[in-house]
Amino acid sequence: MSYISENLNSVRAEIKRTAEAFGRNPEDITLIAVTKTYGADLINESISSGVTDIGENRVQEVMEKYDSVKPVKWHLIGHLQKNKVKYIIDKAELIHSVESFDLAKEIDRQAKKIDKIQKVLIEVNVSGEESKFGVLPMECEKLCRDIAENFENVKIEGLMTVAPYTDDTQLLRNVFTGLRDLSAEIASKNIKNVDMNELSMGMTNDYQLAIECGATMVRVGTGIFGKRDYTNR
Ligand SMILES: *Cc1c(COP(=O)(O)O)cnc(C)c1O
Repeated sequence: MSYISENLNSVRAEIKRTAEAFGRNPEDITLIAVTKTYGADLINESISSGVTDIGENRVQEVMEKYDSVKPVKWHLIGHLQKNKVKYIIDKAELIHSVESFDLAKEIDRQAKKIDKIQKVLIEVNVSGEESKFGVLPMECEKLCRDIAENFENVKIEGLMTVAPYTDDTQLLRNVFTGLRDLSAEIASKNIKNVDMNELSMGMTNDYQLAIECGATMVRVGTGIFGKRDYTNR
């Protein structure tokens, strides 16, 4: 067995174990294999080992790999520039990184052209770190309302966050429960055309904690493919 399928097995086992320990159904958690910097061969190997969803954070990389990768659901998880939306609108199952009205407007415009309803998540900067993308929690509900009222071809399915890179579990727990509570609060407002079905949070270092705090999508790269090498980018 290759290291990829071995790693996948242990990540899946860990998801199952954690979900069950916290009274959750493991099937409610989607594993997104984060494939940035990895080539089509390794990605296809992971798909042969059962990966159904992959995550990329750069549009350029999606375009370079798209035709060589077997059928799979593509998730755009990184910062998205408006002028790049047109390149991925026909490829993305879910865009995790919507953080402005203007970006949603462009997604709506491009989605209309191909008669698609583009599913998106709103990226929230829960920790308030200046270096992070995303809206602040207090701005999130208004953005959801504005998008839902104005754009028929954009469908909000939930929230996403990137936690700080730290092993301070209390801080991580605050970030993850912060996103979960925000999602519950927005859900309670029953805003038309806004669903809070998905909570995309947790990466290799912290996905167990994220599952404990309610994640429905975890984004795991290193834990499946090994350490990334950025030197060829
Ligand atoms: C790279 C990346 C991940 C995966 O990170 P790992 O630590 O390798 O699991 C998850 N989410 C986003 C937004 C990323 O850019």
